[in-house]
Amino acid sequence: MKFIEALKLRSKLFFIFIIITIGLIFIGIMGAINLKSMKKNLDSLYFGSLVPVIELNDILQTYHGSLANTIYKARNSELNINDVESQINSSIAKINKNWNNYESHFKRYDELQYIEYASAEILSTNNYFTKILKSVADGYDIKDLSINNFERKISNIHQTINKLIAYEISIAKHERKTFLKIYDSLLIEVGFILLLVIFCVMFISYYVFKSIQDDQTVLEETTKKLRIANKKLENVSYTDSLTGLYNRRYFNLIYDRELKRAKRMNCYITFMMLDIDYFKQYNDAYGHIEGDFALKSVAKVLKDSLKRPGDYVFRLGGEEFGVLLTETGETNSARLARNICDAVREREIKHENSKVNEFVTISIGVVCCIADKTLDEEMLITRADEMLYKAKDSGRDRYNITTNISEKTTKKVNEAIA
Ligand code: GH3
Ligand code: MG
Ligand code: MG
Repeated sequence: MKFIEALKLRSKLFFIFIIITIGLIFIGIMGAINLKSMKKNLDSLYFGSLVPVIELNDILQTYHGSLANTIYKARNSELNINDVESQINSSIAKINKNWNNYESHFKRYDELQYIEYASAEILSTNNYFTKILKSVADGYDIKDLSINNFERKISNIHQTINKLIAYEISIAKHERKTFLKIYDSLLIEVGFILLLVIFCVMFISYYVFKSIQDDQTVLEETTKKLRIANKKLENVSYTDSLTGLYNRRYFNLIYDRELKRAKRMNCYITFMMLDIDYFKQYNDAYGHIEGDFALKSVAKVLKDSLKRPGDYVFRLGGEEFGVLLTETGETNSARLARNICDAVREREIKHENSKVNEFVTISIGVVCCIADKTLDEEMLITRADEMLYKAKDSGRDRYNITTNISEKTTKKVNEAIA
């Protein structure tokens, strides 16, 4: 059944269709052959026996009812000569016609000889009546006709034809038996073929469907693997390879989405900008590789501090990070920012060149507000940036928070900075 597995789905279904069609054609041919033989059997039963019996009975009836009756009536002077003549002639014509019909039907070899004999008997009996008719026409008185002779003739022909009838009836019985036998064997044959075809179709269908199912399983497994690979690819494209945090590309996607969601729900949104203090000096003192380790450590602190679903931490670039929170009020946002500052410092990453602490520290600009329809997306980032600048300016290793995101204030701060 390997070849079934090698077929494509459409070809597999086509294969089943072909098998079923062949099976049905086979049943049809077998049925037709058997029906043909049954028809032949019925034909010989009907036209070979039953119809001939009717004809023979008719002949017998004509001899008894018409011919003999005519003679008896003529002897009793109940008929005139003309009536006798016309009745005898029409009866003989009827007998001949029926006999010819009888002879024209299908005959078996074993009955031919007896039919020949019966034919001669009928001819002789008919001649006997024709002779009587001729004698009567020549002036012979029918009352002088030997009644014994006449009755012997009638009884003779009666026996001959009755024998034929008995023969035809026995043949009819035999034909009926044969017909029933053929009918029974036809039923068994068709039933057997039908079972065989059903079995074949079931057997082949099993293989075809099993093969389809295997294909389906392979397809499902491949799709699953592909989905996992796609997910991995997606994760890779949204993850920063150094820190394992979300990257800038994912930030662009999430920031927009979360802001819209917060606007729809009219809830708090918090954005934090984080920047490592004096990191340039850190690199200068310990080298870039150590700098990368420090970045990873800070990233870990951020990850550990923000575990709530819906909290996002991004590496926005260099040693700058972004945090996006929703449904977190000012007090909680401030507490979180403070905790982050403390956690980074408490990580105790040695930084001898820092002007604020002997360990690596971080400054955070926080903006927290209720997202309403008027909230400007750019402004949130700008204000967080300003707050970060303020934190840096006011000594670093701290956070600065605002809930005011109006442009006016921003401009003022910008002017102050300038
Ligand atoms: P400030 O406190 O004002 O932020 O001082 P800073 O020295 O940190 O100044 P700034 O933020 O401008 O310095 C960024 C430095 O971060 C420059 C670069 O040496 C370092 N840096 C940026 N990206 C990476 C990185 O991927 N790996 C390492 N090791 N260092 C980086
Ligand atoms: Mg920086
Ligand atoms: Mg810095």
